[in-house]
Amino acid sequence: MKIPVYLIQTYRFCSLKVYLEAGLGLKSKKTKESEIGRIAHKIYLDLSIALGKGEDIEKKLHQILREYSDPKISDLADKLLDFRFRTPLEGLPVIAELELESAELGVTGRVDLVEGLIPIEVKYKDRAYRADVEQLTAYALLLEEKLGVEVKLGCIDLLKSNKRIKVLLTPLLKKHVKNLIIEVTRASLSPQYPANPPCHKCDLKTECHMLMPGF
Ligand code: SF4
Repeated sequence: MKIPVYLIQTYRFCSLKVYLEAGLGLKSKKTKESEIGRIAHKIYLDLSIALGKGEDIEKKLHQILREYSDPKISDLADKLLDFRFRTPLEGLPVIAELELESAELGVTGRVDLVEGLIPIEVKYKDRAYRADVEQLTAYALLLEEKLGVEVKLGCIDLLKSNKRIKVLLTPLLKKHVKNLIIEVTRASLSPQYPANPPCHKCDLKTECHMLMPGF
């Protein structure tokens, strides 16, 4: 059995939500914020690929923006272009959305970017949280298995604050994430009720309260 890496984020939000999504097959709902995040993500990945190929990324941005008419997206795209200009590549080639999986680790996922041998998680956020570091580490473990090399560094690119956070991927952190994957897998198979769930922020609140007695 393999769980998707993104469930680490879900688990850190609420362990019961893992069961709703992975066990019962419910889907997280899209919001306006998540839609802007998706567009920011796509623009940033396209700019990164162009940069990796040595293309003119300003020109690339003009091409990309033909798809969007919203002036807010143009403003956002200009900031992303500036961020990408200021953020040197960690290595070549640049690969976007690389599919990875491991039967041994029991996870599957798609890492946003790989620059050389460095995995990069791209987040539409202004700061990195524990789950972001754990998710990045899971991708590093998958990359290590695929390439047969030790991955000691990873990055989290924050598209709201336009910062790159470098994360040292220590053996201790990797061990922690291997154990965490086991916990998340368990939560996907049977409901794990959290002590203080953040229900007021949950997009599956209605479904949860209907399907899970006591919540
Ligand atoms: S409604 Fe509350 S308990 Fe249910 S999944 Fe969402 S956060 Fe967790």
